[in-house]
Amino acid sequence: MADIIKLLPDHVANQIAAGEVVQRPASVVKELLENAIDAGATSIKLIIKDGGKSLIQVVDNGIGMSATDARLSFERHATSKIQSAEDLFNLNTKGFRGEALASIAAIARVDLQTKTANEEIGTAIEIEGSEIKSQEVVATPQGTSLAVKHLFFNIPARRNFLKSDAVELRHITDEFHRVALAHPSIAFNYYNNGSELFNLPESNFRQRIVNIFGKKSNEKLVPVNEDTQVVKVSGFICKSEFAKKSRGEQYFFVNNRFIKSHYLHYAVLAAFEGLIKPGTHPGYFLNLEVDPSSIDINIHPTKTEVKFDDEQTLYAILRSTIKHSLGQFNVAPTLDFDHDSNLQTPYEYKNKNAVLPKVTVDSTFNPFAEETKQARSSSSSAASNSFASYKKPSPQSWESLYVETPNAEVKSTGFEGVSFESEVSTKSIFDDTEDDLDTSAITFQLKRKYIVTTIKSGMVVIDQGRAHQRVLYEKFLRTVTLNEGLSQQLLFPIQLSFSLAEIDILKDIKDNLTTMGFVFGQINENIVEINGIPPMVAEAEVDAIFDELMADCQQNVGADGFSQADVLSKALCKSLAVKTGDVLDKLSQSALVNDLFACTESMVSPFNKPIYVTITENDIDKKFI
Ligand code: ADP
Ligand code: MG
Repeated sequence: MADIIKLLPDHVANQIAAGEVVQRPASVVKELLENAIDAGATSIKLIIKDGGKSLIQVVDNGIGMSATDARLSFERHATSKIQSAEDLFNLNTKGFRGEALASIAAIARVDLQTKTANEEIGTAIEIEGSEIKSQEVVATPQGTSLAVKHLFFNIPARRNFLKSDAVELRHITDEFHRVALAHPSIAFNYYNNGSELFNLPESNFRQRIVNIFGKKSNEKLVPVNEDTQVVKVSGFICKSEFAKKSRGEQYFFVNNRFIKSHYLHYAVLAAFEGLIKPGTHPGYFLNLEVDPSSIDINIHPTKTEVKFDDEQTLYAILRSTIKHSLGQFNVAPTLDFDHDSNLQTPYEYKNKNAVLPKVTVDSTFNPFAEETKQARSSSSSAASNSFASYKKPSPQSWESLYVETPNAEVKSTGFEGVSFESEVSTKSIFDDTEDDLDTSAITFQLKRKYIVTTIKSGMVVIDQGRAHQRVLYEKFLRTVTLNEGLSQQLLFPIQLSFSLAEIDILKDIKDNLTTMGFVFGQINENIVEINGIPPMVAEAEVDAIFDELMADCQQNVGADGFSQADVLSKALCKSLAVKTGDVLDKLSQSALVNDLFACTESMVSPFNKPIYVTITENDIDKKFI
């Protein structure tokens, strides 16, 4: 048989390597920013177009490259940073594999301009799919500019795999945050499609955090400092009362390199144990300095995972250091998870002059019109209570229970226990002897968790939280689709502060939120003014709702095929629905049952969990045999 093994041509090998190094535009950003830092730059500009799909450019004022080096930098395994494998154990640079530029040049069109301090004239190189197109001398300032255009132009499968510009930009911004936080002494500018997103002057760590995450973050930070033989820990944790639903602001830097470490993350969580509400996440910005020979950063091409020699000691030190800081700064609050947030003056109201409320008189109001009365009572109580939007059940809706729950649907969802068979031909599955539908007589709340109600064939046990989620979800979807969202005007606009990345998300989802009844005022840098909210939202909840909304959108907005309205409706119904433990009065109980069975899909929650089970008389009889 003829020989069949061949050496892969360089450009193919480079493309394969690129698969590891470059997953998406953000990976290119990381590599280029790190090269600029390794080159000793004190000022770095990042320029992005179309989520990095058309252009990613990094301009630095570092040491630059000679003409020969500029040419060599695109060769695989070409690096100025290590010479032998031993050097790996004493790394002071970000890069060392000599792979990034070769990989990037294999899958994009790259323009390089560079000049060193002691040369008069610089070098310009154009390279496309690993092929040098031109090399010229050029007049350029000291430093390097590297522009990566049309990423994945020669690998359509990878290009098609990229998400929307907004999502890719978000990944780039995350990467930018990590690098900028790790190097506060370097000035950064970041532009997207011609507008400046960040202008970060040279500063200390605290100022850098504040410049990135907004002025309000300053009051949240508690310093952490500990110097031991194994590790030097410095940085900040966020006070426990600012723990967020989203994981957002959690950063570990080891020797100025952003890393991910579940193990260390748990050390921080352990320190916060008992101080934050379950389901919320503490924020932290922690720098660890360790002996470079005690870590291995070679285990992953993107170098975000690090292996420590002595993880257990690190864990213990980190945990006790943070505990100490929380105690020292007296920020371990006496916890009251059940406090009534309605009783607290929202932060934004302090130092505000009173404004005379505007009273709008509804000239068409007729107290005898039943419909009007119901609508008013529901919206006036809504401010204090998220499930107060329930109105007295209307008999017609009871009938719809029937129509909307055909037997076929029951079977298809796999709830074999549910049998409405005999009732389908009758008027209602509920005891139809009760002509006036005095529903208060037939519902009760079990363990502050379930609503139990009788039906002809026995009883239904309804999970109150899931039922309410379903009701709210359909309500929100309807308002968005029909564009009929109602809004209650706020006397004092609420001001919320966001990180710039969150502001980006908000701009994306603003239109849909407006149709749901949120009224937005000005957006100034990172402060957003909210002038109106949907009637079922209580004013005191707005902050928490947006917190949760951001968390959900960050995670889900990238998922293709998910319509935005669906993601938003799910996020809102989750935060607004009644929870296990909430006491519902009789009226709310029956209204919930009524509204649930008026839903198009009353059997499963928006998150695909069963909402109710039925227990037939037969089932009960069997227990008594
Ligand atoms: P690595 O960073 O792992 O060495 P790269 O492919 O990223 O590999 O870069 C190859 C080499 O090109 C670097 O070792 C460095 O000498 C040079 N280089 C890359 N970017 C710059 C830059 N912005 N300024 C100066 N030199 C650079
Ligand atoms: Mg590099």
